[in-house]
Amino acid sequence: MITDLLNQHKIEHAKSLIKDIYLQDQRPWVVGYSGGKDSTVLVQLVFQALSELQQAQLHKKVYVISSDTLVETPLIISSIDTTLMRIQKKALELGLPFETHKVRPEIDKTFWVSLIGKGYPSPRQKFRWCTDRMKIDPANRFIMDKVSTFGKVVMLLGVRDDESVTRAQVLESHTVEGKTLMKHSTLSNAYVFAPIRNFSVDDVWSYLLHEDSPWGNDNHELMALYQNSQSGECPLIIDKDIKESAGSCGNSRFGCWVCTVVQEDKALIGFIDNGEEWLTPLLEFRNWLSEIRDVREYREKHRMDGTIYFVGQDEDRKLGLGPFTLEARQMILRKLLETQKNVKNPYDPNYELILPEELKAIRQLWLKDGEWADTLPTMYNEIFGEDLDWDYDDRPLFEPDQLTDLEILCKEQDISIGLIKKLISIEKDHSGYRIRRGLLQEFDKTLQQDWLHYEKVDGYKQ
Ligand code: SF4
Repeated sequence: MITDLLNQHKIEHAKSLIKDIYLQDQRPWVVGYSGGKDSTVLVQLVFQALSELQQAQLHKKVYVISSDTLVETPLIISSIDTTLMRIQKKALELGLPFETHKVRPEIDKTFWVSLIGKGYPSPRQKFRWCTDRMKIDPANRFIMDKVSTFGKVVMLLGVRDDESVTRAQVLESHTVEGKTLMKHSTLSNAYVFAPIRNFSVDDVWSYLLHEDSPWGNDNHELMALYQNSQSGECPLIIDKDIKESAGSCGNSRFGCWVCTVVQEDKALIGFIDNGEEWLTPLLEFRNWLSEIRDVREYREKHRMDGTIYFVGQDEDRKLGLGPFTLEARQMILRKLLETQKNVKNPYDPNYELILPEELKAIRQLWLKDGEWADTLPTMYNEIFGEDLDWDYDDRPLFEPDQLTDLEILCKEQDISIGLIKKLISIEKDHSGYRIRRGLLQEFDKTLQQDWLHYEKVDGYKQ
């Protein structure tokens, strides 16, 4: 009973704070919604608080944004889509100034284009390149677009102090004394407001299970999603510092199906155990991707910029690993496309694991990396028995027999074919311009890469 009262007090306090801050100025709000419990509480509270205001007081927009990394767990993203649609519909009905949006990474920064196109090894806790590229940057682009229109924005986050000690410290360090709003750590003219900062996890569930969702969702279903899984989420985090303190990204049902940051994908396993067997090929693919990550033969022995580094001591000293090799990337894509062919999503017959635009971007990157045999369209056709609408401009630089001649020539002269291909690709990129600015510098940079000069480095093992 006392707990209920305390909880009610916190809810009323949060709502009244939301109303006060909303009425304070003209700065529009951007609310991050990940589909998880904390951001559901946040959006629901904002919705309720604004419903209690007079129509004339609703003077500025509230954008509810969700991220779609393009590798979201399928059931979660469809539930986010449904929720966004319901929020929008209900808000229109009630005359509330909500606008819902989904933000996506740019095609050259998606998971598959980064991993299969460029060779980024699958993310790990210590090399988590994915959150910036797939979540933070797209959300920040949205925010900066609003900043350029309105001058300033306030971002609302569903973060809570009791998630971790570090999280609480980070929030505290951003707080300006006597003020409710915090400064964003990287975006100027953006402020952060965390209305449920002092909620405990019990407060969160108690609120969700006792207060009906204003747009008609069933929060018991949300709770069911959390059962049998770890409680972390990979939220739509829009402040990098706050992200780094979270530590839970990747450990939840609300992340990417292909996440390799976690040892075991509890999300997919949980769904499959609950009868969604059609997700099994995804789980198998994800596990395989995690297993092959550190296999030496699949990785370059230099970094993407051509520099080398060593790991181990004395006898065991060997070259450190770089991006996936082109052959490994081809292998991964083939397996991904085969998985796509085998996945039968009962809720969406058009469900795709990788988009045609991503395949086109990967093809371009491979061509640039010297994959002139241009295997991607053939691979696609072998698997699906049809062609994609490939762009005319994607034509390879050389015909197969010309390529063979070039390979023989390189062998005769003892020159790396990879290097020659790279140089010709640079030349091609600069062709057609009257002033070919930067051409020589790019040649120079390519020729100076460490890995071309292994022989000058003593005592290494491949
Ligand atoms: S869920 Fe995993 S793969 Fe997706 S953004 Fe978070 S850490 Fe990266």
